[in-house]
Amino acid sequence: MRFVSTNREARPVGFLEAMKQGLAPDGGLYMPEAVPTLENNFWKSLHQHSFHEIAFRMALPYLEGELSEEVIHAVITDAIDFPLKLKSLENSHFVLELFHGPTLAFKDFGARFMARLFSESAGKKQKEVTILVATSGDTGSAVARGFYKVPGVRVCLLYPKGKVSPLQEKQMATLGENITALEVEGVFDDCQRLVKEAFVDDDLNRTLQLSSANSINIARLLPQSFYYAYAIAELQKKGINDVTFSVPSGNFGNLTGGLLAKKMGLQVQKFIAATNVNDVVPKFLKGSGFSPKASVQTISNAMDVGNPSNFVRMLNLYGGSEDALRSDLPGYSYSDSETIETILSVYEEENYLLCPHTAVGYRAASELKVSDPDALTTVTLATAHPIKFRDVIEKELNTKLEVPQQLMSDLQREKKTIPMSSNFDEFKSFLLGY
Ligand SMILES: *Cc1c(COP(=O)(O)O)cnc(C)c1O
Repeated sequence: MRFVSTNREARPVGFLEAMKQGLAPDGGLYMPEAVPTLENNFWKSLHQHSFHEIAFRMALPYLEGELSEEVIHAVITDAIDFPLKLKSLENSHFVLELFHGPTLAFKDFGARFMARLFSESAGKKQKEVTILVATSGDTGSAVARGFYKVPGVRVCLLYPKGKVSPLQEKQMATLGENITALEVEGVFDDCQRLVKEAFVDDDLNRTLQLSSANSINIARLLPQSFYYAYAIAELQKKGINDVTFSVPSGNFGNLTGGLLAKKMGLQVQKFIAATNVNDVVPKFLKGSGFSPKASVQTISNAMDVGNPSNFVRMLNLYGGSEDALRSDLPGYSYSDSETIETILSVYEEENYLLCPHTAVGYRAASELKVSDPDALTTVTLATAHPIKFRDVIEKELNTKLEVPQQLMSDLQREKKTIPMSSNFDEFKSFLLGY
C-alpha cells in the first residue's frame, strides 16, 4: 500500500518509509492512498476473534508486501502484551481501559507498535536509527519504555528541566541502555526547536540516520484503530450493536484512529470529540472555523493542545468536507472544575475512579445521552490510569490511593540524565560524538 501526504506534493511511499520520515517532506501528514475495507463478515463476527487476531486483520492491508505475515503477527503480539479491559458502569456507560501498559497510558499502544516496526526495518538496513523526541512528559515516557532495548534503534529524549512531573521523569530518564535523556535548560519549545534544527542539519544527516517518534507518525496512528474494534467485539458478546465512542482528545490521534476503523468498515454510530478548555475542535464542530490558539494549562495536561496536529487527517477522512465532519462528530469541552466534579460524582455513585482526561470523555458521553436518544450505549476511552494523577485526585477525594507495584519500582529508580543548554551547537556536538 502507498501512503500520500495530506499536502499532496510529496511522492507516495510505503508504510515503513512513511514511518521513518514521520512528517512528509512537503510538511503534510501521511495517509493511506485509499483506506482499505475489510469484508462485512469479519466486522459482524468480531466477537469470535481475539484482540490480537482483530489487530492482525486490520494491520495486514497496510503492511503486507513490506513485512511477512509472521513478522506482522509477532510485532502485534509483542507490542501489545498487556490487557485491555471494557468495564461496564451504570446507564449503559462503558469504559475502555487502555492504561494497562508499562507507562499506564494509551500511548503505549502506539509507541510499542512503532518501536517494533522500527527494529524490523532497521535490521534490514544494518544502520542504526537515532530517534529524536522532544517531550513535555507522556510521549517521552511511552517512547522511552517502548524503545528500551529494541535492537537497531537508539532514542535521544529532550525534556525541559524541572517541567515534567516526577513520575514522568522516572519513567523516561532512568532507563539507560539505548535511551538517553537530555535535561534541557529551557522550556518545551526549546526542546522542539533543537530537534527541528537537527533534522535539517547537513552534518548530522550525513553522520546519523535521524528519525522522529512524535504523535503524527503513521505507525502510532494505525494501532490506535485496533481497540475500537475490540470494544465492539466485547459488546457484540452482550448483544449490543449500536455504539457511540467518546474520546478525550488533545492532538486527536486517538480519535483519528477510530475514524480510520470506521472507514475500514467498523460499525460505529458516532464519535464524540471531548476536550478540556483547549477547545479548538469542539468550537469548529459547533460551526466556527478552525482557529488554532496558544494552549492553556489544565489538570488533563496531556490534552493541552492549541493546534491539534491530526485535524488535517480527520478532514482528509471526510474527503475535505467540513460539513460532513461536523455532522458525524459532536464536540464538547469542560473546565477543570467540571472535570473534578465528574471524577467525584462517578467515584461516589459508581465507586469507579476516572483520571482527569477520561473524566472529560465520560462527561461528554453523559451529556450526549441527554440530548440524543440514539446514543444509548457509550464507550469512553480511558486514556490514563488515575494513579498517574495522584496529587489532584488525593486532594479532591481526601483519601490515599494505592500505588501499583509497577509504579513503585519506577519511582525507586535513579535518574540518569545529561544536562544540556538550549544552544543548538552544544546539542549538535553532543550528537556527533554520541
Ligand atoms: C496523549 C493523551 C491524550 C490525548 O490523545 P490525542 O491522541 O493527542 O488526542 C489523552 N489522554 C492521555 C492520558 C494522553 O496521554
